[in-house]
Amino acid sequence: MAKKNKDDYSIADALRVPSGPVRVEDFDPDSAPDYPGEGKADAPAQMADLAPELSDLQERLYAAGRDNPRSRRLLLLLQGLDTSGKGGVIRHAVGMVDPQGIDLTAFKVPTAEERSHHYLWRIRRALPGPGMIGIFDRSHYEDVLVVRVDELAPLDEIPKRFDEINRFEAELADQGVTLIKCFLNVSRDEQKDRLLERLENPEKHWKYNPGDVDVRKKWSAYMDAYSDVLTHCNTEHAPWFVIPADKKWYRNWAVARLMVEHLRAMDLQWPEADFDVDTEIARVQTS
Ligand code: AMP
Ligand code: MG
Repeated sequence: MAKKNKDDYSIADALRVPSGPVRVEDFDPDSAPDYPGEGKADAPAQMADLAPELSDLQERLYAAGRDNPRSRRLLLLLQGLDTSGKGGVIRHAVGMVDPQGIDLTAFKVPTAEERSHHYLWRIRRALPGPGMIGIFDRSHYEDVLVVRVDELAPLDEIPKRFDEINRFEAELADQGVTLIKCFLNVSRDEQKDRLLERLENPEKHWKYNPGDVDVRKKWSAYMDAYSDVLTHCNTEHAPWFVIPADKKWYRNWAVARLMVEHLRAMDLQWPEADFDVDTEIARVQTS
């Protein structure tokens, strides 16, 4: 594979879901589009390459948000089946960023209080503040995925929710939130290997949940549900990205690179001092 120049390609273009009807099966979970290195061996170096710029961009975002409540925010939304690596992405890609600038929320089975509200209620409460990078480990999409597969709501609700979600995300875009929606696409075979790996290693037993096998049995129902989400909630202001997730090193690199590209596009400037710099230098020197 030819080495790519840092700036002459766009992972966002490579991984963006095309508009129109799509199926999850159209995307290869084992591919590594636009990876600039050779493979697994140089993945740590490729990650390290992204780190300084990601860190600089995050600091600019944070600085801009400090005194402007209307400033930009980034929201990385992670969806994927068990073992697709939502946790791994958070550890390895998001982990490169200063934790002070990260606002992480993992959405679990709704609590009694959450269930008493509209499904977007808990989502709105978890939105990142100005200058922050929000991370959603699962999201409002569970309300059209598990809710559909397990029929936790009437099925005719689902298409209505697609429209509602599209309106909600348009509203976010208007408020200065840049949304990066990632579907971590793990294959059925790779999921099996990862579940077995968890069982074979006592240090990974805590990660294994017997319920994951019941979810796995509904694989094709989940593929239908995800295919509809990628088809109906893939808008100009909030597109989906499908991240091939069978190669952990590629998955982590691709999400880090997506964050860099989206932050770059915000064209973040350092805020100007609201004091006279020369005066302050003189004051410090004589203090
Ligand atoms: P985990 O991410 O492995 O900790 O699991 C979280 C669990 O919460 C998954 O089984 C999800 O399907 C479930 N979950 C998340 N959001 C919802 C929701 N809105 N309705 C029902 N189950 C949900
Ligand atoms: Mg789990």
